[in-house]
Amino acid sequence: MEFSMIKEILAREPKYRLVQVNQAIFSDLAESWDEVTALPKKLRETLQAECPLEINAELSLSDDKDTAKALIRLADGKFIETVLMRHEDGRNTVCVSCMVGCPMKCAFCATGEMGLLRKLTADEIITQVLFFSRFLKKENARVGSVVFMGMGEPFLNYDNVMQAVRILNNPECFGIGARHISISTCGIFDGIRKLTTEDIAVNLAISLHAPNDEVRRKIMPVAEGYTIAELLTVIDEYIAKTRRKVMFEYLLIDGVNDTDEMARELATILKHKLCVVNLIQYNDTGAFVASSHNRMNRFKEILEKAKIEVTMRYRFGRDIKGACGQLATGRN
Ligand code: SF4
Repeated sequence: MEFSMIKEILAREPKYRLVQVNQAIFSDLAESWDEVTALPKKLRETLQAECPLEINAELSLSDDKDTAKALIRLADGKFIETVLMRHEDGRNTVCVSCMVGCPMKCAFCATGEMGLLRKLTADEIITQVLFFSRFLKKENARVGSVVFMGMGEPFLNYDNVMQAVRILNNPECFGIGARHISISTCGIFDGIRKLTTEDIAVNLAISLHAPNDEVRRKIMPVAEGYTIAELLTVIDEYIAKTRRKVMFEYLLIDGVNDTDEMARELATILKHKLCVVNLIQYNDTGAFVASSHNRMNRFKEILEKAKIEVTMRYRFGRDIKGACGQLATGRN
């Protein structure tokens, strides 16, 4: 869907048409211009011919219905995946992709195996949220939060990601509060620094996954270029400037990063930081084995004893390969 093209067409129309079109796309969630009867027929026909509202996607639902994954076909024939997570308390979160594939090659991630095919435009990013907004409308529900944790590294597509964030946040579009939008990075310093200069207070998450450089370099090639100490200095600057809590994501992999000693090491490096650690169980991509529940609980206990705030991420959508680290498509 090409929102920029829609704006170009509307530039030839009276100003109130944009209000009508925003209402149709983002509030009424129209799936075809034929439904938008507030517009003159000729304009509808032009819009239908040049920027149709239809989204070409295949949907898979997990057995427990808590997770839905959409395989979206882009205009150039490439495919991306996007995931809807339905929480017990009724909240709905969409995990969006920002690239077709990813160049970062983290060893535990199926997307990384694809390499980078291309970056997504802002339009392609918000199309993913629009798809699930339409899906939820049928149940009178809405998308409450968006996380940039799907395919790709957001800070290597900074401008398009931030453009999408503004559309998500705009009250005339999705109206999703900045505090309900999270960007996750594997640790791109420029992006973290740039985010402190933005006037929109989104959440920052860091894919850490290791308590020391030796372990991190084994599973995340990005860590070859800098040390965790340097990364934490950049995070300290971020916290000092924004006063916002940072989330550290930590995927627990059996025998790789989940020992008691590593939990203590992690607690030491994160001590006194305004942060929360999100422990995630490894999801099968073939390369490693997931830590057991006992191990995860023990790791959590050690962090909590050291007064580190911890959450444990629910496992969403493993049966449809929609869980963390599992997004990949062989269709490209
Ligand atoms: S974990 Fe994120 S940054 Fe690493 S390869 Fe996968 S998509 Fe890329």
